[in-house]
Amino acid sequence: MTTSPAFPIGTILGYPRIGRRRELKKAVESFWAGKISVEELEATAAELRRVTRERLLSLGLGRADSSIPEAFSYYDQVLDAAVTVGAIPTRFERLVKEDGTIDLAGYFTIARGEGADTPAEMTKWFDSNYHYLVPEIGPETKLHLASDRLVREVAEATASGFRTRPVIVGPVTLLLLSKPSEGAPDGFQPLDRLDDLLPVYAELLAALTAVGAEWVQLDEPALVSESIEVDRAVVLAATKRAYDLLGGAVIRPSVFVSAPYGSLDDALPVLVDTPVEAIGIDLVKGDLPSGISTTKVLVGGVVDGHNIWRGDLEAALSSLESLRGLSPNVTVSSSISLFHTPHDVEDEPLLDDQLKSWLAFADQKVGQVATLAKGLVEGKSAIRAELDAASAALADRHQAAGVRDGAVRARTGSLTEADFSRGEYGARLSAQDAALQLPFLPTTTIGSFPQTGDIRRQRAALVSGAITDDVYKQAMRDEIRRVVDLQEEIGLDVIVHGEPERNDMVQYFAENLDGFAVTQNGWVQSYGSRCTRPSILWGDVSRPAPITVEWSTYTQSLTEKPVKGMLTGPVTILAWSFVRDDQPLRETANQVALALRDEIKDLESAGIGIIQVDEPALRELLPLKKKDHDDYLDWSVGSFRLATAGVADRTQIHTHLCYSEFGVVIDAINRLDADVTSIEAARSKMEVVPDIQSSGFGRGIGPGVYDIHSPRVPSVDEVSELIEIALGSIPERQVWINPDCGLKTRGYDETVESLKNILTATRAARSRS
Ligand code: GLN
Ligand code: ZN
Repeated sequence: MTTSPAFPIGTILGYPRIGRRRELKKAVESFWAGKISVEELEATAAELRRVTRERLLSLGLGRADSSIPEAFSYYDQVLDAAVTVGAIPTRFERLVKEDGTIDLAGYFTIARGEGADTPAEMTKWFDSNYHYLVPEIGPETKLHLASDRLVREVAEATASGFRTRPVIVGPVTLLLLSKPSEGAPDGFQPLDRLDDLLPVYAELLAALTAVGAEWVQLDEPALVSESIEVDRAVVLAATKRAYDLLGGAVIRPSVFVSAPYGSLDDALPVLVDTPVEAIGIDLVKGDLPSGISTTKVLVGGVVDGHNIWRGDLEAALSSLESLRGLSPNVTVSSSISLFHTPHDVEDEPLLDDQLKSWLAFADQKVGQVATLAKGLVEGKSAIRAELDAASAALADRHQAAGVRDGAVRARTGSLTEADFSRGEYGARLSAQDAALQLPFLPTTTIGSFPQTGDIRRQRAALVSGAITDDVYKQAMRDEIRRVVDLQEEIGLDVIVHGEPERNDMVQYFAENLDGFAVTQNGWVQSYGSRCTRPSILWGDVSRPAPITVEWSTYTQSLTEKPVKGMLTGPVTILAWSFVRDDQPLRETANQVALALRDEIKDLESAGIGIIQVDEPALRELLPLKKKDHDDYLDWSVGSFRLATAGVADRTQIHTHLCYSEFGVVIDAINRLDADVTSIEAARSKMEVVPDIQSSGFGRGIGPGVYDIHSPRVPSVDEVSELIEIALGSIPERQVWINPDCGLKTRGYDETVESLKNILTATRAARSRS
């Protein structure tokens, strides 16, 4: 490298890939279904990339200055990087062709599995709701340039008159997020392969140069996370080695290392000390670094990619000005890729205009970046009008009706310790035993039953106005009756209503609480082709009327057995919504908790003796930095307790958790103080059970005995084996028998068969004891 081309003054780290109308989702799913050819899929993807470049250009990024990121993905950016460097799981080696490459069909096979070959494991991407595929790397993995997709995409941009900036997950993060391949020897870590991986990245950089890239963006979010299980000194040494080596490559674009999702801390001086040309700093989640002086480009991530608020532009500009104390070369970007936000606020005709004026989706955030870039170059006065407009919107939001509700605040303001605590467990247990009369090893499900095509059609018909509310309600009641009869027939002890009336476990509550809005087109990629449409929590939350009481009491009227009421907990409601950023999450969580507390009281008064409050996202919101854990666990556990502590001793509170390694939050799960906790456990063969037990957990536990993430029906023997493992480490009076999670995504055939096997295995276990 001689002189480096200038880094663009304003850029974004990435942009939604799924398309405004989820075009990519539809094309990919059609390809999987065999309805379109690979050529048609590629044409759709190329068109999406073209539209994105043109769009970003019109929003203020530049055609030829490398400000437009080339950050497309057919499924997942981590899988993209893994496939690019040939990190193919051993069981899928057959997908590698003779010339060492892997094609698009092979790529999808790794993501989705084939026959007995299970797909790559999926796990959460930092503190977002996105899930990536975990690469598998062992000593045997043949690391080499196995895909030129990124190179072709840059060439495609160049051919259409753009100079874009290719984006790929960096080598250190790729290895840190990988797990050892199946046969890897004990003690092997994927990071051991760093020196074999770096030449592959170097080759890729040369190829990108050849097609016109002047800058490349290597994403290294693993450097900001403290959840990485590799010693920090080893991580820092790997960072130094990686960027010394890549920086020393003769033919390469200028290198921009981005570090989204938090502050780099001690990794920043390490990067500054390598030959890379630009470093991205997340100034939204992270703090302004200190003690650094450099001439490298510092890319200030000040436009918040985590949420959809328009935010404080004036404050963003002053953060950038502070960054200038560290380097004379400061530019502006989004804090993280914008793919966690929906496309465009202007695409929401039904959203209230005032609310819209407070929001910025991806396109509006690009506009903010362009504004700030202009401010950096021409000075603050050049963007005075935009700064003032943003401040005015913020001021309007601050005083708007509903944002602050005196009655809600009076309630959260007067909470005392007692509001967060139930009575002593022993007394609760005897009261519940007397009230509920459940058998030994009680059986239940997690709440939802299969959401059939018919249920979804009824809901669509209600939304479109084709059927009336009454017709819809009757259809749901009929469904509930079927589900209750089925559970009675199978012999389950605690009955659920099956949740047919819920489109989504969070959106359903958002639609029924004040303080929330829902969008029409606000889709965000969750994983692969799956998208969610998070609700917007914009104001003080309250409950205008009971939400679930009618459904639960109807259900109870159909059976002599206890019916379990079903609610989504405050932490999960926050985790799966876009949450207001103008007050501590603790306050917002307590408001949601109080609304749920009223609902729980009403359920109790209506004769519902068991109420489950789901918190599958408890682990998910855990902050990346350890210093933030205590505060998080304090308010999250607190909000659950606030929601549930208003009931009498005889009312049994359940909770349900899933989706994650529970290790770090086991103690918090205990502190929730639920009477019964059901938890995902089947796939890991009850691994979590001994840990829960050793945390001093004395209350009911239902470790899942049926992995509902797969269409497989577990045999009676399999279930029996899991029950025995559970009974081996939990005192038997504490054990509940249930599936891992809700049955919403399963079909009826496998559901019925699986539940029957669970009951057969339970009866056998009962008679053995
Ligand atoms: N009650 C919910 C259901 O059964 C729980 C879902 C979840 O844990 N994600 O669908
Ligand atoms: Zn679950």
